[in-house]
Amino acid sequence: MQSKNDLVMELGEDFPEIRDSVRRICEQFPGEYWRQLEQEERYPDDFVRALTEAGYLAALIPEEFEGSGMPLRAAAVILEEIHASGCNAGACHAQMYTMGTLLRHGSAEQKARYLPEIARGELRLQAFGVTEPTSGTDTSRLKTTAVRDGDSYIVNGQKVWTSRALYSDLMLLLARTTPYDQVAKKVDGLSVFLVDIRESLGKGMDIRPLKAMVNHNTTEVFFDNLRIPADSLIGQEGKGFRYILDGMNAERILVGAECIGDARWFTKTAAKYASERRVFDRPIGQNQGVQFPIARAYAETQAAELMLRKAAALFQAGQPCGDVANMGKMLASEASWHAAEACLQTHGGFGFAREYDVERKWRETRLMQIAPISTNLVLSYIGEHILGMPRSF
Ligand SMILES: Cc1cc2nc3c(=O)[nH]c(=O)nc-3n(C[C@H](O)[C@H](O)[C@H](O)COP(=O)(O)OP(=O)(O)OC[C@H]3O[C@@H](n4cnc5c(N)ncnc54)[C@H](O)[C@@H]3O)c2cc1C
Repeated sequence: MQSKNDLVMELGEDFPEIRDSVRRICEQFPGEYWRQLEQEERYPDDFVRALTEAGYLAALIPEEFEGSGMPLRAAAVILEEIHASGCNAGACHAQMYTMGTLLRHGSAEQKARYLPEIARGELRLQAFGVTEPTSGTDTSRLKTTAVRDGDSYIVNGQKVWTSRALYSDLMLLLARTTPYDQVAKKVDGLSVFLVDIRESLGKGMDIRPLKAMVNHNTTEVFFDNLRIPADSLIGQEGKGFRYILDGMNAERILVGAECIGDARWFTKTAAKYASERRVFDRPIGQNQGVQFPIARAYAETQAAELMLRKAAALFQAGQPCGDVANMGKMLASEASWHAAEACLQTHGGFGFAREYDVERKWRETRLMQIAPISTNLVLSYIGEHILGMPRSF
């Protein structure tokens, strides 16, 4: 009999009931819905509500806090199916995994106070403020500060690309509590806070939408002497970077699953169009120049998916999974991009026509090579930490 910690990697269409039910939800949100949203730069409220009501955004919250307590692989399947259906989970996927920092490092009081409400969909924890305009990928250099003042912290600084902040009640914020030049290790002295956006707006917090290539509801967040209660701190002061890193493996695996879903949508759409579109009196898919890029992207997708399933199994078994989670995310984002390119090329001029959704999905999947972590940073991790080559930064 398998114990809870056995490393299980199921192949084939695992979690068929979940896949089926997610597909049925997604059928209510066809391409036209997403095109309209983009045109109006709107947030997909109806879509997010449908997923919340089905309990899918609380998939990873343990049952003791009123969530579904599903394994990470089940959450990955949910996101994969959303993307394979032509939809986009970017509007709400953070609700699934951002709570992980609270779950693992929050106090019993914080967990009891927030997790059940998040699980019931009454409280949205969708925003995760790490990236800043000047420090970029070098998180240790972030400039937002939180300074203790009696029963409060005073926050000053700026975040950029904070997605969904205007559609979230809470924000997980990473800020410096000890100056960079006073810490032994550069990632020490960073702390994580759970900031109540509802309480903070207009009182030292300002959120401005940031227009972007994709309809990602992303923002810039400004802090000007924002006073937050001292009990907003999660875990110990100064240990925040480790807490954030902890949750990143789950994030990599879940975003990788979205890429697999995108890749499935692109290869299916491309193969169908290539079989139907006739030029020079034959289907364009009869030409191997059209066929091969789609076939290659399919093979790449299958390989990346295996890596991600391995990462999810290791994660579930509580074993180290940083290497495979990072590699899986990188390979999946490249597979989805190659599939996107093949799909766009196969559609010729019609690939540019909005009504086919190919150009929208093409733009959406391109993001995955930049966020939440860019390809170069994964490569440098492999070079330095797995292969032992000299440290570059
Ligand atoms: C639509 C969107 C949504 C986002 N949502 C969020 C969010 O919700 N919360 C959040 O905190 N962030 C978010 N981000 C930010 C995202 O995580 C960052 O954009 C990403 O991590 C890269 O950081 P940067 O843009 O500052 O790039 P930079 O750090 O400026 O890097 C630019 C390029 O240089 C490369 N580079 C930098 N240093 C090195 C090096 N030493 N060696 C080799 N290459 C290097 C990078 O790989 C990258 O390609 C989002 C971004 C986008 C576009």
